[in-house]
Amino acid sequence: MTLSVLSVASEAVPLVKTGGLADVAGALPAALAPHDVRMTTLLPGYPAVMKALGRKAKTVHQWESLLGEKARLLAGRLGDHALLVLDAPALFDREGSPYGAASGRDWDDNWRRFAAFGRAAADIAGGTVSKLRFDLLHAHDWQAAMAPAYLRFAPPAGGRSVPSVMTIHNMAFQGHYDAGIFPLLGLPAHAWSIDGVEAYGGVGYLKAGMEAAQAITTVSPTYAEEIRSPDFGMGLQGVVAAKGDRVSGILNGIDIAEWNPETDLHLASSYSARTLPRRTANRRALEGEFGLEPGEGPLFIVISRLTWQKGMDLLLDAIDPLVAAGGRLALLGSGDATLQQGFVAAATRHPGRIGVRIGYDEALSHRMQGGGDAILIPSRFEPCGLTQLYGLAYGCVPVVARTGGLADTVIDANAAAIGLGTATGVQMHGGDADALRSAINRTIALYRQPDLWRQIQRTGMKCDFSWARSGKAYADLYTRLVAEAG
Ligand code: ADP
Repeated sequence: MTLSVLSVASEAVPLVKTGGLADVAGALPAALAPHDVRMTTLLPGYPAVMKALGRKAKTVHQWESLLGEKARLLAGRLGDHALLVLDAPALFDREGSPYGAASGRDWDDNWRRFAAFGRAAADIAGGTVSKLRFDLLHAHDWQAAMAPAYLRFAPPAGGRSVPSVMTIHNMAFQGHYDAGIFPLLGLPAHAWSIDGVEAYGGVGYLKAGMEAAQAITTVSPTYAEEIRSPDFGMGLQGVVAAKGDRVSGILNGIDIAEWNPETDLHLASSYSARTLPRRTANRRALEGEFGLEPGEGPLFIVISRLTWQKGMDLLLDAIDPLVAAGGRLALLGSGDATLQQGFVAAATRHPGRIGVRIGYDEALSHRMQGGGDAILIPSRFEPCGLTQLYGLAYGCVPVVARTGGLADTVIDANAAAIGLGTATGVQMHGGDADALRSAINRTIALYRQPDLWRQIQRTGMKCDFSWARSGKAYADLYTRLVAEAG
């Protein structure tokens, strides 16, 4: 039986992206199609989405008042991707990012924008639109999290009851608002409860979605365990623990059409696991781009948001020892001003050894994976992480913190794994700058053994982190929940 799933997301590639959620929402429909799941994605009608949808979109429903605003539902397609778009100009027709003004400040009415989005999603999944029928609702992150809560506490009149899945892409973002908004949400009084929408005296959108959904997923098995503890659960660890085995982790995949060193047009020289020496031309090109001198030691790369979460302050502390040990570093990223300044200063201190590019550059990120020897990812927490997966596919050996998806996807080159031929990278032992320094030293020592290094590169390149595997895991979960719902 074909399952019909409504995926509710505030961003999806190629239309809008601020983070990994967009990659997942964009990739899921194709990943699920082979498993008899027909997925339709509901997105807010931001200007970029409305423009991409074009004039062919059909109006399939109208709301006179969606949390006080007029709105209509448009149905259309983008290639193979079936889309529903919530066109509510008062809420979504704004320049800037999906969540704030160009200045970076969040919109003051985000609570209303994403409550309306959740209300609309619940109406659609619950059967309000006669032509649309769904078996399950899949909500992504806090922006979509009110959808399961509305389905539970205020389902559309005469509608069908459908199960929902709540996926957490990053527990650090929860959509927490003042209690004063509760009367404006259109929920019954009993929704204000400890197992409802109330969270620490306010309204918690992610928390409400987690409580209401029949299953919670995160984007890696280790992160699914980590969020049971206060350090990672960020206040919601109790909710996670109470949900028991209803919480699971399904790894994100990578787009292997986009990220394949054999066909990547961004690279000076394409290559495969069998033709690794051809990477040398890419390394030379990269050295040229970053003004680095050739050297005996490895060329480390970093492609990252420059933030505390990503452990970039730890890297700043480890830079001088990295250079002293014979390493070089090419860094691409943007984020906290102090960290940016710190990396620029390090490049000035170590000309020819450290090169820094502040900004976001997709093409350069491909060239770096194709020419760098090892990619450094010392994150404090990492729900899944993509750059280590690209590194594995490109023979750019990941050097990672042992957390979340990094722990699940990189096999540390310890003596046992080397003996078995299963090592694919280096894991830090601990979460501080010392641990990073020793992981860097270990990497440099491995690099000095070319046969072993090549084996580690090749083993990583053979790993399959495509969406095929994860698509099946989501399909199995949907099937189970729909069967349970009877
Ligand atoms: P997060 O979503 O927490 O930032 P991920 O590793 O899951 O981290 O995804 C980050 C994505 O953004 C990857 O595809 C990575 O290549 C890309 N990326 C991050 N910073 C940059 C940058 N400065 N330039 C180009 N791509 C970047």
